[in-house]
Amino acid sequence: MNELLSDASARSIRYLETLDARPVFPAGGPRARLAELGGPLPSGPGDPAAVLALLDEVGSAATVASAGRRYFGFVTGGSLPATVAASWLATAWDQNGFSSIMSPAVAAIEDIALRWLLDLLALPRDAAGAFVTGATMANLTALAAARRVVLAHAGWDVEENGLQGAPPLRVVLGAEAHPTVKKALGLLGLGRATALVVPCDEQGRMRADALPALDGPTIVCIQAGNVNSGAFDPAAEICAAAHAAGAWVHVDGAFGLWAQAAPSRAHLSAGVANADSWATDAHKWLNVPYDSGLAFVRDAAALRGALSVVAPYLPHEAAREPGDFTPESSRRARAVEVWAALRSLGRAGVADLIERTCRHATRFADALRGAGAEILNDVVLNQVVVSFGDEARNREVLARIAADGTCWCGPTVWRGQMAMRISVSSWATTAEDVESSLVAILRAAGLNLRSA
Ligand SMILES: *Cc1c(COP(=O)(O)O)cnc(C)c1O
Repeated sequence: MNELLSDASARSIRYLETLDARPVFPAGGPRARLAELGGPLPSGPGDPAAVLALLDEVGSAATVASAGRRYFGFVTGGSLPATVAASWLATAWDQNGFSSIMSPAVAAIEDIALRWLLDLLALPRDAAGAFVTGATMANLTALAAARRVVLAHAGWDVEENGLQGAPPLRVVLGAEAHPTVKKALGLLGLGRATALVVPCDEQGRMRADALPALDGPTIVCIQAGNVNSGAFDPAAEICAAAHAAGAWVHVDGAFGLWAQAAPSRAHLSAGVANADSWATDAHKWLNVPYDSGLAFVRDAAALRGALSVVAPYLPHEAAREPGDFTPESSRRARAVEVWAALRSLGRAGVADLIERTCRHATRFADALRGAGAEILNDVVLNQVVVSFGDEARNREVLARIAADGTCWCGPTVWRGQMAMRISVSSWATTAEDVESSLVAILRAAGLNLRSA
């Protein structure tokens, strides 16, 4: 173990130290070599050191440098140093995070991290929380609690009786709801396409004035942080209207919920704390390693009621048994990395991470606009939607940016128009990275940076 883990450590360090000097998106050669990892299933045991060497020699070069400083695709955070280190240690621990008797350490770390998260994100201090794989599962987890409660109010126990014969349950979505919310609704038997869809404004915000009259069992899903524009649904207005009608409000805040932790951006998410449940990611803006998402539910009993399992051989010893709140039973100790991120950054460090990346996004937008590109969204957060012309031209610019290798930006479709999206979500991105990436992007687009 000693030699093997020392080798793994040396290889990991070399990987991270050389990451920012190589193309952000792997070239064709390294990708073609991935076949060398294959061949027939080995007939018998091999040397673990050789396994690691092959993985590093073939695999490392074919990775996307999304852990580096100039990856702006999708909404992708890197990994803070303390979280990578904590993750290594937690892998050595190999704890089952299901219950306190399986891992007192992990149960305690979840308790602590959850308390800090509720404080940092300004959510109700006695809300329940679940450490899950990502915002998709967080949406599913929170919506399971929502489904339980709104149907219980109509006299129906959905966990015991299922949905067949249940009172009708209405779901209300914004036209810009993230596809994973619809996926979660599908998995819960509530239908991907049966929701009532509320129109959005030009930034992708749900129009509170277009909310239908609500009655009966209803779940309203709103969004904090549109995946393209970064815009926020008007949470305060929608929560007030929904609660007056007895509806449940769920917030998909995969990255936008972190505005709550940044004094200069918190006005954007005003009112989200009035909702009943929230989903967010830690692997995006908090910059912990994959996979890490978080669900929070105001009514702790609702989440526990929807997800706990009772079996005589499973003791319930602690006040909060982790496995009572998650869809999974056995699972890795992913709260360890969240804890390490919060312990190493503190309140001010998280605020600085959010505010700094937002400032980088604004610099991108200002410089690109100044050079003649079109910025399609109001840049309120860390997201920039940019167009250089028609679809063919945008695709060509994207391909040139990828081939140049300085940085990587992704394609998107915004209000029916194919465009490029820049998301600044990594702790590691510096002002110099933004400038060198701007040079590369403008070179790819045949535009010139205008000095301010
Ligand atoms: C990324 C994202 C999701 C899905 O998150 P995963 O972590 O990939 O499961 C859901 N909603 C929004 C708004 C997102 O940005």
